[in-house]
Amino acid sequence: MSKKYVYAFTEGDGRDKQRLGGKGANLCEMTRIGLNVPPGFVISTEACLEYLAQKSLPAGLLEEVRHHIGKLEARTGKRFGGEANPLLVSVRSGSALSMPGMMDTILNLGLNRDTLRGLIRQTGNERFAYDAYRRFIQLFGKVALGVREERFDAEFEAVKRRAGVKHDVGLDAGHLKAISDRFLKVVLETTGKPFPEDVYEQLEIAIRAVFDSWMGKRAVDYRREFHITPDLANGTAVNVVTMVFGNLGDDSATGVGFTRNPATGENELYGEYLVNAQGEDVVAGIRTPKPVAELAHEMPDLYRQLVELRNKLESHYREVQDFEYTIEKGVLYCLQTRNGKMNAQARVRSSVDMHREGLITREEALLRVDPAHLEQLLHPRLDPSHGQKPLATGLPASPGAASGRCVFDADQAELLGRDGEKVILVREETKPEDIHGFFAAQGILTSRGGKTSHAAVVARGMGKPCVAGAEGIRVDSRAQLARVGELTLREGDLITIDGSSGAVFLGEIPTVAPVFSEELKTLLAWADQVARLKVLANADTPDMAKLAMDYGAAGIGLCRTERMFNASERLPVVVEMILAPTREARQAALDKLLPMQRQDFLELFRLVAPHPVTVRLLDPPMHEFLPSERQLLEEIEGLKAYRLAVKGRSAALAALHALDPVHPTGNELSEDLVNSVIAKKEQMLRKVRELHEVNPMLGHRGVRLGITYPEIYQMQIRAVLEAAAEGLKEGLPVHPELMVPQVITAQELSWVKANVDQIHREVEERYGVRLSVRFGSMVETVRACCRASELAALAEFFSFGTNDLTQAVFSFSREDAENKFLPLYTDTGILQDNPFEVLDVNGVGALMQMTVEQGRAANPGLEVGICGEQGGHPSSIRFCHAIGLDYVSCSPLRVPIARLAAAQANLLAPR
Ligand code: ADP
Ligand code: MG
Ligand code: MG
Repeated sequence: MSKKYVYAFTEGDGRDKQRLGGKGANLCEMTRIGLNVPPGFVISTEACLEYLAQKSLPAGLLEEVRHHIGKLEARTGKRFGGEANPLLVSVRSGSALSMPGMMDTILNLGLNRDTLRGLIRQTGNERFAYDAYRRFIQLFGKVALGVREERFDAEFEAVKRRAGVKHDVGLDAGHLKAISDRFLKVVLETTGKPFPEDVYEQLEIAIRAVFDSWMGKRAVDYRREFHITPDLANGTAVNVVTMVFGNLGDDSATGVGFTRNPATGENELYGEYLVNAQGEDVVAGIRTPKPVAELAHEMPDLYRQLVELRNKLESHYREVQDFEYTIEKGVLYCLQTRNGKMNAQARVRSSVDMHREGLITREEALLRVDPAHLEQLLHPRLDPSHGQKPLATGLPASPGAASGRCVFDADQAELLGRDGEKVILVREETKPEDIHGFFAAQGILTSRGGKTSHAAVVARGMGKPCVAGAEGIRVDSRAQLARVGELTLREGDLITIDGSSGAVFLGEIPTVAPVFSEELKTLLAWADQVARLKVLANADTPDMAKLAMDYGAAGIGLCRTERMFNASERLPVVVEMILAPTREARQAALDKLLPMQRQDFLELFRLVAPHPVTVRLLDPPMHEFLPSERQLLEEIEGLKAYRLAVKGRSAALAALHALDPVHPTGNELSEDLVNSVIAKKEQMLRKVRELHEVNPMLGHRGVRLGITYPEIYQMQIRAVLEAAAEGLKEGLPVHPELMVPQVITAQELSWVKANVDQIHREVEERYGVRLSVRFGSMVETVRACCRASELAALAEFFSFGTNDLTQAVFSFSREDAENKFLPLYTDTGILQDNPFEVLDVNGVGALMQMTVEQGRAANPGLEVGICGEQGGHPSSIRFCHAIGLDYVSCSPLRVPIARLAAAQANLLAPR
């Protein structure tokens, strides 16, 4: 017996999308559940693959097709190629995944001179028959015979012009007959052969054309672009479907529908239809379709049937469907269904609603929403109707849209920002010393750097929009302007950036506020119940902490104290501390910082209690708080020039005074003051040179700093514990946690621990309270991973700092890697992903897994989490779940995404 390639809609298994394609499988499925689908059959994808491999149709296929046509004839009482009651079919492509680029559908196949005559006699509608005929020749000619579309269009237009009509509807049977004749001639001229009259020959050509289209350039490119591998979709099926006609008069119609509103998710039948039209007309835009609600008045009974169809589709598929239907002389047929594509808001709402309606389980609802898709809902977006062309385009580095006035340096941003002006910080690239500008700006635009440049990382951390590497913009910060082609942007010019697309616009474009709907809140509450991983946030400021808590964080997993040091009123004191020549002088500066930090922490406790706040002790190298050497040199040079000018000026005034004693000597510009500023700057310069490091990331930072300058960590520990004690006195259930960065040995940890214990006792005594504080270690050096058991004996928790750990494991310096070779590595597939964006499961991940195992072996109660940027990435979260982490900590704006991803990680984990 030969192989089976053809499946009637009544026999195909609706789950078998690989073999039948999505369209075919659903046609079978709808038939099986009793929906009114025109009879038809599916030729399998297997037949397609064999045809492509051996360059001829598989043996026996055409016989099988004839057999199935015979069954259609029996079912419908029509005859394929028969004059009296002709069977016409559509031939439609369809693979397992829907994809554009494959063959367009051919309608009305089976028409020739004989059957046309029959159709006219049968319907008594000559116009209809010729319209069907000309559509067939046109589609068949184009898609199966390769005739250029314009050849047909030209003839069509010629007839319309001669008839003096604008729209197709104005054409009568005679015109359409003339068009058909011209089309037949076009086919003869361009292919050298007459249009095939034999209906089986028509069908065979169409089947081959569908198969060939699988290897067409557009389809191949599409599969490459979207990584559609053979295991996802291999070959296309061919669907042969009995024609039904929506254009047989005013009791006929055609339409497309959504079982729910795809823009809002609302539970209502949604869609459009056209009376007296064929399927393709609805999308072709020749006539304007009507909203489906009008069908309730035009054809009330059919509207009821349509609602019933919708209900059946939903209760069967339990997912929003996008479907096609046709009404032929008062009879409703369903021609296609598939899962509907929706925006994030609609997806969330429909999933939550469907659970409430009892259609799906809570778990299914949770799995239905793509966590990354939520991003759309958490940031302001450009008003979709703005219709403006971007001025330039860079990388979408941090999502959201913002408008503001251009400023070219951070100080200016701060100045204007303080006055309530909305500004966009525009730089070639940004540096840590620009941080105050980030706080003040609505968004950041850079002309250099990638998605993980300083600007991008910091902006994402703060949840501010950022467009990075907009190379079309040349920024000249000295001249305080930027050039884009002919255009010059100056300070104060309004621009809008869209960090979700990378587009930069001139002027202000309205934005739409994010919608954190009731349904989203509900979905995320379910997620929290299902997830095992807790989701905490990286937050340094009260604003960020508040956002994090609003977005449902279970606490703060990383509070970087250096951000507090950077605030503009703090920085001078920090600089004083760094410059301090003696321990006493340093202590004096720290004494000034203590109350400020204590206040910061108290504010955080107030916002976050009863959830934990995890404070990381100072991490970055000291010179990050000082200006760069270049900047200092410039300032000193400027001051010296100024001093010279002052000297000259006072000499001139003295001379004037000698001549004219009435004139004031007015040495109002104190030379002493200038001298003292110069001295201070020179002292800073010496310090900057002294602190200079070849590779600061691997240098004097983290706990190394804490051990060389014990007063700094002591001050911070004290600030945290005193704030906690004050919080307790206010009645807050505070949960402070202290975390040590850059640890490599247990000795470091026990050194800091001894300090914590000491200060802990002092604070408890002084405040007369009992405080509980948890003590943990960052794990961000390879050595810390190797010594996990020793560290775990001292720590109550570990927090993987995967940004540093990734640099260490790869021996990459991040900026260099991203600017020089990482793009090539990911493009060519040497690395699958940028490891700074997506956790490198095989390398860094393996080390993490080992660390978790060894740490827990030494200390079974050890809590383990991650606070690197990757902690907010769904695939990284899945991995963190798999290796048994307890929490992830990510930027506040990613908290909702992470909550959903954490739930999905648990639902999808192998049991
Ligand atoms: P597409 O993927 O472009 O939607 P389809 O195969 O669904 O292609 O067909 C294009 C149009 O033709 C659709 O509007 C569809 O409903 C209509 N159509 C397809 N087969 C038939 C048929 N047998 N009878 C009536 N209309 C049909
Ligand atoms: Mg198509
Ligand atoms: Mg379709």
